[in-house]
Amino acid sequence: MTIFSRILAGEIPCDLVHEDDQCIAFRDIHPQAPVHVLVIPRTPLSGISQATAEHEALLGHLMRVAAEVARKEGLDGRGYRLIVNDGPDGGQSVSHLHIHVLGGRALSWPPG
Ligand code: AMP
Repeated sequence: MTIFSRILAGEIPCDLVHEDDQCIAFRDIHPQAPVHVLVIPRTPLSGISQATAEHEALLGHLMRVAAEVARKEGLDGRGYRLIVNDGPDGGQSVSHLHIHVLGGRALSWPPG
């Protein structure tokens, strides 16, 4: 069980910014930008590399919610970044798919 499963189960508190039948979004506990929100599916898919054709609709929903969160956080116009880390080289530390919504400052490229 990952820490995100425990958040979904209500065992660990989070600063919730969105919830629906397929996903929740909450503020990252170690924010890397003024806005740093994580969008996670309710289903415990471990990462984007484990997604199959049956997850296509869910993945689309997560992306749309991520953009909606960004808009509600006031990031439309100035811009923001959506990030999905996968596996050791991708820097994934929690094995439950999540989209990072980062914004509120100019983000450098390429990433580290
Ligand atoms: P990643 O490194 O892509 O797997 O991202 C995992 C993210 O989860 C990191 O940015 C962590 O700061 C964040 N995180 C870990 N535990 C919590 C928690 N309890 N509440 C909110 N964010 C968390």
